[in-house]
Amino acid sequence: MALTLYNTLTREKEPFRPLDRKNVRVYVCGPTVYDFAHIGNARPVIVFDVLYRLLRHVYGPEHVTYVRNITDVDDKINARAAEDYPGLPLNEAIRKVTAQTEKQFHEDMRALGVLPPTAEPRATEHIDQMKAMIEQLVMNGCAYVAEDHVLFHVASMPDYGKLSGRSLDEMIAGARVEVAPYKKDKMDFVLWKPSKPGEPSWPSPAGIGVPGRPGWHIECSAMSAAHLGETFDIHGGGIDLVFPHHENEIAQSRCAFHTKTMAQVWMHNGFLQVEGEKMAKSLGNFVTVHELLTDWHGYAWPGEALRFNMLRTHYRQPLDWTLVSLDEAHKTLWEWYGDLEGKEAAPGVPGPVLEALSDDLNTPKVITELHKLHSAGHWGHLRAALSFLGFSGERNRIERVKLAETRSARESDVRALIAARNAARAAKNFKEADRIRDELETMGIILKDGKDPETGELVTTWEVSR
Ligand code: AMP
Ligand code: ZN
Repeated sequence: MALTLYNTLTREKEPFRPLDRKNVRVYVCGPTVYDFAHIGNARPVIVFDVLYRLLRHVYGPEHVTYVRNITDVDDKINARAAEDYPGLPLNEAIRKVTAQTEKQFHEDMRALGVLPPTAEPRATEHIDQMKAMIEQLVMNGCAYVAEDHVLFHVASMPDYGKLSGRSLDEMIAGARVEVAPYKKDKMDFVLWKPSKPGEPSWPSPAGIGVPGRPGWHIECSAMSAAHLGETFDIHGGGIDLVFPHHENEIAQSRCAFHTKTMAQVWMHNGFLQVEGEKMAKSLGNFVTVHELLTDWHGYAWPGEALRFNMLRTHYRQPLDWTLVSLDEAHKTLWEWYGDLEGKEAAPGVPGPVLEALSDDLNTPKVITELHKLHSAGHWGHLRAALSFLGFSGERNRIERVKLAETRSARESDVRALIAARNAARAAKNFKEADRIRDELETMGIILKDGKDPETGELVTTWEVSR
């Protein structure tokens, strides 16, 4: 069965031909470990887990190398560490933040039925490789040193922009480029930058006398080369990474190694959205995987229901995350698993399931096939297909726990406090209103004040913070 994949680089669905069938190599950009993963961050992890399972099936588990990195050097990590542990030296605080976040990430992904990748390299463990690459780029005339920074000179690469297919103007707008006096060109991006005292730092490359740290893009170029080689088969991530992150990875790797391609196939998942908007930390419209697993709309949701809900939409389409759809996903699994009780898996993976997956990971089609197996009472095949896709088939693994009592007690407390605060506001007792807001905040409740568009009445809504 021919596997076809949509390639962002060519904008076409193409037959997949690995460079080496004995070692099919995949790299996916992993998390920056400073905070809980939201369910949008889980989308690429689940999508590429399905691809990994398919490749293992086609080429044999020992013939697939899947690398998903951990970004543990980043300004967002530094900021979070300083905020969460103001009393600690920054480096110690950073270690705490990254260790905790990484542990949580692994727990969350395990609950979502995700296989561990072959390797999970950390940026901090590949600084030497990054420095070597940076020096190579300077030597090749693709990068230059300016005010203790090393910058990639975009004009040195005629092919720059091919992946995103954007004009230079669009790229400048899209990259929110930092204008800095030491840049030769607006579009030039940072490979290395100086660190302030107390920030994570390493001896700098390219003869720079002060210690510094790598930029984000060079991390993935160095880690993919270290684990997969200078050219490999598939590179993946969310659609937001096409530009500038992946464009810059390509520029760095190709210019450092003098190669025609970095990865043959570039795959990108669409956004997981909330009411038509990308779910993002910065927009505040996110729900973490941890919250979903423990407490969302009054339930602790099983990880398999989250996974199933994710796969109901094709990976390149936008996906709206709603309670209704998650509830439906859970109901379907609950019904199937009930019918599967006491039924053994048939050997192999049903052909129509493999066929649908081989067509650019058409998981909605796969699910249609599962429904057919269910209606036809082909229990052995249904169990085999589910297991192949990362589902246990066991009802005791997908119990949806209602958090009725504790939850409703908490809700009535919150409501009473909000009412008291609104009364205080109406009486212009703003001190008391603010005190109540603070009290709610310590309970982890964030208030949002608004006006009813029809009556003009003050309405306060609330949500649970992280
Ligand atoms: P970040 O931590 O923002 O670098 O994101 C980690 C991964 O999650 C990247 O592959 C992003 O493209 C992906 N991602 C972030 N937000 C979303 C979203 N709302 N929907 C789908 N993928 C996302
Ligand atoms: Zn990356």
